Formats: sequence, C-alpha cells, structure tokens
Amino acid sequence: MAPETRKTGIDIVGDMPWGTHFCLFYETKEDLLGTLISYCKTGLESGEFCLWVVAEPLTIEEAIDALKDAVPDLDRYLADPSIEIVSARDWYLQGGTFDLKRVTGRWHEKLARASARGYAGVRVTGDTAWLEKKDWKDFCEYEEGLNEAVANQRLAVLCTYPLAACGAVEILDVVRTHQFALAKRHGSWDVIETAGHKQAKAEIKRLNEELEQRVVERTSQLMMASEALREAQTELAHVNRVTTMGQLAASIAHEVNQPIAGVVTNAEAALRWLGGQPPDLEEIRHSLDEIIKDGNRAGDVIGRIRALIKKVPPRKDGLEINEAILEVIALTHGEVVKNSVSLQTQLAAGLPPIQGDRVQLQQVILNLIINAVEAMSGISEGSRELLIGSGKDGSSGVLVAVQDSGPGLNPESFDHLFDAFYTTKPGGMGMGLSICRSIVEAHGGRIWVSRTAGPGATVQFTLPVGESVQREATLVVASPACER
Ligand code: ADP
Repeated sequence: MAPETRKTGIDIVGDMPWGTHFCLFYETKEDLLGTLISYCKTGLESGEFCLWVVAEPLTIEEAIDALKDAVPDLDRYLADPSIEIVSARDWYLQGGTFDLKRVTGRWHEKLARASARGYAGVRVTGDTAWLEKKDWKDFCEYEEGLNEAVANQRLAVLCTYPLAACGAVEILDVVRTHQFALAKRHGSWDVIETAGHKQAKAEIKRLNEELEQRVVERTSQLMMASEALREAQTELAHVNRVTTMGQLAASIAHEVNQPIAGVVTNAEAALRWLGGQPPDLEEIRHSLDEIIKDGNRAGDVIGRIRALIKKVPPRKDGLEINEAILEVIALTHGEVVKNSVSLQTQLAAGLPPIQGDRVQLQQVILNLIINAVEAMSGISEGSRELLIGSGKDGSSGVLVAVQDSGPGLNPESFDHLFDAFYTTKPGGMGMGLSICRSIVEAHGGRIWVSRTAGPGATVQFTLPVGESVQREATLVVASPACER
C-alpha cells in the first residue's frame, strides 16, 4: 500500500508521506519564518497537531505574531490547543542537559495524546540554534535515531539549522541524518536528497506503479466477470420464463382454442346466412365481426407469449403496473380456472407510471401467480382464493401484492424462499423467487413475503417511481433472510 501523503505547504517539497524527517538550512529569520509559517498553517488546516520548537534569537512571541498574520483563527488553535509553540530550552534541554531518549520519547507522547484527541497526526518543527559543540555528537545520534523513530508513525519532523553555525562537517552530518535537506541556492529553495532517500522514493514509485497496474488488471477482470454474470442472469431469467410458459402450455393452448373454435362456429354460421335466399347480410356482418374479435383475442394471447419467450436485452420503459398485471392475469386465466381458483383484483386507480422492463416485471408477477396457484392446488379443503392488489408505496412508489389461501409457509421455508435452488416441489427448479428478487432489486425495489393471518401467504414487492436507476441484477445464491 502506498503511504498516506500530506501536504507540506512548502512548494519545492510538495507532498510528503507520514514518517518524513527532513531538514532546512536558513540564513535569515525571514527564510525560517517564510517556510515554517506555511508548514504549520498547512498542518493546522489538515487536522494535524502542530508543535513548533523555537530557539533564540527567534522568540515565541515573534513566531506567534508571524503565524497570526497567516492564520486568522490562530487564537482558537492555540486555545484548543491544536498547536503548541515552545522554546528549545524547555523542549530539548529539560533540566539543562540534552537527553536523546527523553526527547524522542516526548515526540511519541505527543503523538499518542494527539491521536487520542482525534488529530490526523503530529507535525513537528524544531530549531537547533541552541546547539553547542559539546552536544553535537549526541544530537547527530538523536537525529539518526529519529529516522527510525518516526518511520511508520503519523509523525513528520522538520529540523531547522542556522547555516551560520554549521561548518562543512556539520552540514554533511545534518544531510546524512535526514531524508532530504532544503537550502537556498541562488536565492531560491532547493531540495538536496541523499542517495538512500532517492532510492527509497524510486522504490515507492515502482511499487505504486506495480500496484496501479494490478488494480487495472483486476478491474478489467472484474468487469469481464460481472459482464459474464449479467449475461448468465439474463440467460437464467430467460430459461425461467420459457420453463414457466412451458408449464402453462396446456392451459394457454386451451385459451387459444376457445377463440379459434369461435372463429370456426361463426364462419359456419356466416356460410349458412350466405346460403339463404336472399342472404342475410346483417347476420353475415355480425358473424364476421365476431370472427375478427376472436381472431384478435387469439392473436393477443400469442403476442403476449411471444413477448415473454423472446430473448431480449433488458430495457427501461414507462409502464403502467396495472396494465402489466392484467396482461399476466389474462395469460394465466386458463391455469387459474383449471385449478378451480377464484381470482380477485384490487388494483388502485391513478398509480404513477414506473420506469422498468415490462418483460422482467411481468415475469415477477407471473412467477408469483403460478406459485400461488401451485400452492393452492395441493389443498383439498377450503376455498382457493387468489387476490392480486396494487397500491401506492409511501410517497413515491408502487406496491404489488399477491395473496393466496394455500397452506402458507413453514418456518424453514420462510427463511429460504428467496435462495437460489430452494424448492419444495418435486419438479421445481427453485429459481423463481430468486429471479424475482434480483429483478425487483435491479429496479430499486424490494420484495418480501409475509405470513398471512389464517391460511396462505402474501408476497409483495415495491418499485420506486420515476428516477429509479436500473441497477445491475445480482442473484443472491444463499441468503438466510427472506424478509427484505
Ligand atoms: P419453485 O417454484 O421452482 O419451487 P420458487 O423460487 O418460485 O421455486 O419457490 C421456492 C419455494 O417457495 C417453493 O418450492 C415453495 O416451497 C415456496 N413458495 C413459493 N411461493 C409460495 C406460496 N405462495 N405459498 C407457499 N409456498 C410458496
């Protein structure tokens, strides 16, 4: 994972990861303040806790004044406190001596406290103008150790060194013990990197690129997989429709037979009227009208079957849910009659049109009706009643309910109804309700079953109206919850 980066507020540096320990050589107070004000301001604005250790000749008051100009609500930050400005003598030389372990420990204490108070991390800057020759070796050791102490911590440390106090040896020591150094060259700031740091950065860059490449590969694999899943779902839904229509074949054939028989009867009658002397044109016209009506009836049934059986990609139309329900009722009429079921509808008037796929939503209604009829076909006592209702769902949605007076659901079924391949029927596929759920959810709705008071079960689903986004349908292969 690439380390989390923070803005330094220093143009030439840009962003830095947590755990950065770098240094700056300055010639004038202005050099120092110009950089540190922006560094601290950026830390405060990024939700970090800031600690600024100042050393003479810069005083705490001067630091506060300079910061106030750049940070209008500094008083609030100081009162929180989100920033502490302390003197180097108090910070590094507690008790008059420099103790590297104690100072390193104090950074970590600050970090623990700031993290507990919800800060993103701790941003530190410490000046070394107080350093004397006698402490130099210890301090170098401390600086060296700090690299390890801040690594993998939400700490960033900027150490500032007055150039006037550093000879060539000191400069080399400082550069060696920091990840990189900032110095003014020809009037503008420049970054001097150590070889180790350069190498580490190159390594991070390489790892990042590798990671990005892997993300690209994975994303394309996932897209291909989800495309395949979508195709499989469409295929499965189609198989389910064809299977269901197959189940209905006998009763639908009966449905189509009736108008065809009507056509034959009326054609025979017309022929008889035609043979009269004179032919009775009025009766012939009446017979032909009936033939046209019957022909249309048969054509409508065939048209609906074809629409449901055709393999078409999902689409979104504005559709009246009641109209879609009535068409499915017409298709299942034969099956309902065959099973001695008495069907009633309670369709609310004035429902808003919904955006959805007509074939898919009719498939849901069809599955629910067939399930209800099948459930009731097993009962020998009591009446077989099927109630199909529609209504408003809340302020913006429609609700469809299919209620039957069958045996209802046992607790075990109740928990698994919507699972793929769950069936209690000898020849059942167990995909009906699972497909219903994926279709309804793809339309932004939900589907659930309730145990009705008395015998029977009620399956209901809702669909949002208007702006519903058609989401990708996902088949839930094993979900324990059936109330959704
Ligand atoms: P299948 O109809 O192939 O079994 P479904 O997913 O449509 O698949 O239904 C799963 C199971 O849910 C059925 O086998 C049945 O046990 C139960 N079920 C569905 N609807 C009803 C209902 N209206 N009354 C009682 N049980 C039902």
